[in-house]
Amino acid sequence: MTANKTLLMLPGDGIGPEVSRQVRRIIDWMAKRRQVTFEVNEGLVGGAAYDAHGTPLTDETMADAMGADAVLFGAVGGPKWDDLPFAVKPERGLLRLRKDMQLFANLRPALVFEALAEASSLKPELVRGLDILIVRELTGGVYFGEPRGIETLPNGERRGFNTQSYTTSEIVRVAAVAFDLAKKRSNKVHSVEKANVMESGVLWREEVQKLHDAKYAEVELQHMYADNCAMQLVRTPKQFDVIVTDNLFGDILSDCAAMLTGSLGMLPSASLGAPDASGRRKALYEPVHGSAPDIAGRDLANPLAMILSFAMMLRYSFDMDEDADLVEKAVKNVLAGGIRTSDIMSAGAAKVSTTTMGDAIIRELDK
Ligand code: ATP
Ligand code: MG
Repeated sequence: MTANKTLLMLPGDGIGPEVSRQVRRIIDWMAKRRQVTFEVNEGLVGGAAYDAHGTPLTDETMADAMGADAVLFGAVGGPKWDDLPFAVKPERGLLRLRKDMQLFANLRPALVFEALAEASSLKPELVRGLDILIVRELTGGVYFGEPRGIETLPNGERRGFNTQSYTTSEIVRVAAVAFDLAKKRSNKVHSVEKANVMESGVLWREEVQKLHDAKYAEVELQHMYADNCAMQLVRTPKQFDVIVTDNLFGDILSDCAAMLTGSLGMLPSASLGAPDASGRRKALYEPVHGSAPDIAGRDLANPLAMILSFAMMLRYSFDMDEDADLVEKAVKNVLAGGIRTSDIMSAGAAKVSTTTMGDAIIRELDK
C-alpha cells in the first residue's frame, strides 16, 4: 500500500457532511480493492467551525490545508448563522482558503450524462455527450481591481465604478492551466474576452496567443468574444472543449454551461493554485451546490457532485486517471440503471436516498 498522499476533508455545514460520507466510502473501497490509501484528515469549516471555535476557519485548519496535497470541501452556511457579523460568516472560511492557497484557476466541467440528457434546458440531441471544461480566472479582474468605489460628483450625481485589470502573469498562469488540461482532453482551447471593446481583453488575447505559440503550439486555439461565446454555448455547445476566460465572464458562462447539464446536484468543481518547486499545485475540490439547508440531515441530498469532485481530485491532483475513470463510470452506470435522488427524478426512475445512492456507486465499483 502507498500512503503518500494527504487529503484534507472539510465537510462543513448542511448537506456537506452527508455527501462527504459517501466519498469516505469510496476512499475505503479504494484502500480495500485498489490498494491505494490516502492519509485522510478531517477538519471543521464554516458554521460548524464557528460553533466549535468562534471562527469559520481556525489557523490550525488553514495550516492543514496548506500542507495537504488536496482539500475536499463540502459546503458552508445556513440559517443558523445568517445573522453573524461579516468577519465570522461561514462563507469567510471558504474565502480565506481560496485567498491563502492562492487558487487562481477555477475549473467547472459541464458534463451531460446520457441518462440525464432529457433534464437539460436544451433539446437532448444538442447536449447528448457534452463534455466542456470552463477555466475561470478567480483572483483577479473587475471583482478585485482598484480603484473601485461609489463617489458623489460635483454636479451631485453619484457614480459607482470598478476597474477591470489583468497583468501578463495573471493571464499567462491561468492560460497555462487551460492548455495543460486541454492536452489531457481534446486538445482544443477557446480563449474568451471582449478584445473589441476592452484593453484588458486586448492584452488577454495577445498573451494567450503568445503563450500558445511559445509552448502549446500543438493545441488548437481559438479566440472568441464573450457575447458570442454565450450565444454559441446555448446554440451548439458541443463545439467547445476547454474554455478559458476571466473572472466576470467565467462567472456568467459557467452558470450558463451548468444549465445545459440539468442539475445542481451533479456538478463538481476544482480550484487550482500555482505549481510549487516539485510541480504540485495547491488544490481545492468542491461541489458547485451549496449547503442546501432545506434538505439537510434528511438523507435526501444527491452525493454525485461531491463524488465527481473527488474524481476530479484523483485526476488533477493525484494523476490517478484510471481511478477517476472508474468513479466516473460508476456514476454513469448507476444513472443509466435508473437510480435517482429526488433532485434528478425522471419518469420511471427509482427515487433513492443519499445513502442508497452511495450503496449503488459502491456496488457498481465492485463489478
Ligand atoms: P449557497 O448560498 O450555499 O450557494 P443556495 O441556497 O444558493 O446556497 P444551494 O444550497 O445549492 O443553493 O441549494 C439550492 C437548491 O438546490 C435547494 O433547494 C437545494 O435543496 C437544492 N440542492 C442543492 N444541492 C443539492 C443536492 N446535492 N441534492 C439535492 N438538492 C440539492
Ligand atoms: Mg448559491
